[in-house]
Amino acid sequence: MKKVIIVGAGIAGLTAGVYALQSGFDVTIYESHTIPGGASTSWRRKGYLFEGGMHWLTGSSPKTPFNKLWREVGALDDSVNIYNRDPFFAFEYDGQTAYLYRDIDKMRQNFLEISPEDEKEILKLCSDIKKFTKIAMPIMDIKNVKVKKKTSFGLGALLGMLPALLRISFYSNQSTKEFAGRFKSPLLQSLFENIAGPDFSATAMAFTIATLTSGDGGYPEGGSLAMAGRMAKRFEALGGTVQYGKEVSKVSVHSGVACGVIINGEQINADAVIVTQDTRVAIDTLFDAPIQEPWAQKMRNSIKPVLNTFISVGVEADLSDVPESLTFNTDEPLLCGGLPEYTIGINNYAGYKGYAPQGCTAMTSIIMGDSYDFWKACKENGTYEAEKQKLAEAFINILGKKYPQTAGKINVWDVATPLTYERYLHSYKGSWMSIMGKGSKMESYPSKPESIKNVYFAGQRIMIPGGLPVAAETGRKAVQYLCRDTNTVFQGNI
Ligand SMILES: Cc1cc2nc3c(=O)[nH]c(=O)nc-3n(C[C@H](O)[C@H](O)[C@H](O)COP(=O)(O)OP(=O)(O)OC[C@H]3O[C@@H](n4cnc5c(N)ncnc54)[C@H](O)[C@@H]3O)c2cc1C
Repeated sequence: MKKVIIVGAGIAGLTAGVYALQSGFDVTIYESHTIPGGASTSWRRKGYLFEGGMHWLTGSSPKTPFNKLWREVGALDDSVNIYNRDPFFAFEYDGQTAYLYRDIDKMRQNFLEISPEDEKEILKLCSDIKKFTKIAMPIMDIKNVKVKKKTSFGLGALLGMLPALLRISFYSNQSTKEFAGRFKSPLLQSLFENIAGPDFSATAMAFTIATLTSGDGGYPEGGSLAMAGRMAKRFEALGGTVQYGKEVSKVSVHSGVACGVIINGEQINADAVIVTQDTRVAIDTLFDAPIQEPWAQKMRNSIKPVLNTFISVGVEADLSDVPESLTFNTDEPLLCGGLPEYTIGINNYAGYKGYAPQGCTAMTSIIMGDSYDFWKACKENGTYEAEKQKLAEAFINILGKKYPQTAGKINVWDVATPLTYERYLHSYKGSWMSIMGKGSKMESYPSKPESIKNVYFAGQRIMIPGGLPVAAETGRKAVQYLCRDTNTVFQGNI
């Protein structure tokens, strides 16, 4: 039986692990952290559970093709409740609130009430969203791979997508900020800019709304870490081993062929290596010489990383009356990474069982933006901890003014910076996705280099913009390449 080593037990690594085992390989995953999941994680502090990863999962609905993949790798099963919060998102601006409802008619009505003068644009957007709900991320087989069961992508599904495909260029050729500029209402403008981020192409915003209104994009109960735990359990039940606390420093390559990895100076042999560490970093650090193929050069030059600073607070108050996901504007900016932030987003887990002690609430806030250099400088000049505290206190102060029931009631706070993510994930600037900017497509990178045999890449960076489905899909695809190269039948039921 051929021996395969996987670098990383994130969602890509665990997916690759399950499929490789099912296809008959002997698989060991080496993971530098002590737990599985990578960016798909949560952590506990003083009885509070802070969800640090997924907020919604593409493929959570059994009606989507991707749901089958999640079930096959153990991420979802019948015992996992999917929570489809509705409204999914609330956006408050100058005392008015816009809602992203899962029912498109209700959402259209809400937008029209907010801004009747934007009727034409609202109707056009809602009509396009309906078309986009027909687009689902397909699961495909690579060319010339032997599979136990072929994937099928019916003509009917393809025809159903046609009206949406004709409208994509309208959205992909403008940023969400430019798209938002088509509306007169400042509230709707801010809402659209904030759904995916102003630098993303408007396609990201339109697809996000379409995923939610199609009945997909739910939150599996227990969240990120529980999902990763189920996948690790499935992997181990199939006979795989995860070695935690083991950082791979190099992939060993002899005469252009990968033959194992090096951990703590020790060589561990394998017939193939699947690397799921951020490819942007792996191409420069995991090999004796950086990979210089054209695609690698393109990745170095064009990747725009998505990164953030993450604030979590445990509040000694029941915040069930506060929206579950709300973004509001503030006159007094939150200074994060040296930049003023005038819109603050909060995720409120008041209704979530087990996320906080009785009568208390776990709350998180993601401050998007590239503050890497700021935090790096703080680390170097010794002000890192003090700056984290300053940020937490400023956030708690803004929260207290917005929701007086939280004032003086903060039991615990925690701040994760891009440096925290970098330390745990070994990713580029601590990022966990890539910005799909105006004019760019869902760009993808190869699953294997040309210059080294028996090495494969998977993970969020392989297909822009990344995220959980991309991590899983590229993990599956890497195993299909491995199967093709070793003349092995790929065993998956999709
Ligand atoms: C705050 C936040 C919110 C998010 N929200 C969503 C969402 O709502 N929906 C969604 O789809 N996605 C979301 N994401 C993105 C998603 O979590 C990631 O894109 C995805 O988990 C990436 O998976 P991966 O396996 O490619 O990489 P990673 O999660 O980075 O996994 C790589 C693993 O490899 C390990 N590793 C790295 N280098 C080495 C080495 N040299 N040796 C050994 N081990 C190594 C790391 O420790 C890690 O466990 C979010 C992410 C964050 C941080």
